[in-house]
Amino acid sequence: MSLGRAALTLPTFNQWRLNQQHLSRLESDLLIAHVTKMSRVQVLAHPEQPLNKAQTLKLDQLSLALCDGTPLAYVLGEKEFFGLSLRVNSSVLVPRPETELLVELALQRLNPTDGVLDVGTGSGAIAVALAASPLQLLVDASDNSQSALAVAEENARLHKVAINFHLSDWFRSLPVTRWHMIVSNPPYIAPNDPHLDALAAEPPTALIAENNGLADLLTIIEESPRFLQPGGWLLLEHGYDQATAIRSAMFKRGFSKVESFTDLASIERVTQGCYCE
Ligand code: GLN
Repeated sequence: MSLGRAALTLPTFNQWRLNQQHLSRLESDLLIAHVTKMSRVQVLAHPEQPLNKAQTLKLDQLSLALCDGTPLAYVLGEKEFFGLSLRVNSSVLVPRPETELLVELALQRLNPTDGVLDVGTGSGAIAVALAASPLQLLVDASDNSQSALAVAEENARLHKVAINFHLSDWFRSLPVTRWHMIVSNPPYIAPNDPHLDALAAEPPTALIAENNGLADLLTIIEESPRFLQPGGWLLLEHGYDQATAIRSAMFKRGFSKVESFTDLASIERVTQGCYCE
């Protein structure tokens, strides 16, 4: 009898979902799928399935974290990027769909077995997506954060790709090598940008750059020619209002074929340059 009563207090998927007024349907489904290790489709197909005690406790805890403003990707510990499920935690920026544009442009310009460097790799999203392509690229990736590199290394392991990782503050500690391409999604938000309020859970060092958000982008433009093969490409993601400044900095540093590309929201988001000495 008492067993029966205890079981009654545990909710079904649907009952738990109905109690989470602050969550969207998608969020509650994803949390249930995560905790029960079922697919979202399976969760949708079994609304009357009961949760066990450990699952219910875990779900309540994750729901609270979401409510407190923790991004869904951190709560789940994963985020999909370029068709790959990547591990993420609060040491790294959550990979964004606009960064997929950078990967697409890079893949269009790379030849099989080319060497490419992702400088400031964070979760390793760009580097892992490039390394997982059929082009058999030789991929290097760097970051100045040991904890970010640990996440990137885990993502490379998970997707069974070989990447050479380097702990380096931009180009400072990198081997003297010349890559066919250097790509980066560096911090580019100005310290006083009001958008930062919505990004409070993510590491400020991955988001914020001095000089109106341009400092790290300009460092990369200045230093990358020493690390590029003749005719090598530099591809940079940047902020919505920075394309003009980035193009002019690339021209000034001697890049040619300088061009910006728009993301799905029609915002100039990635700028390229080719370095021919
Ligand atoms: N794209 C991110 C955002 O605007 C910022 C990423 C970055 O600074 N590199 O939310």
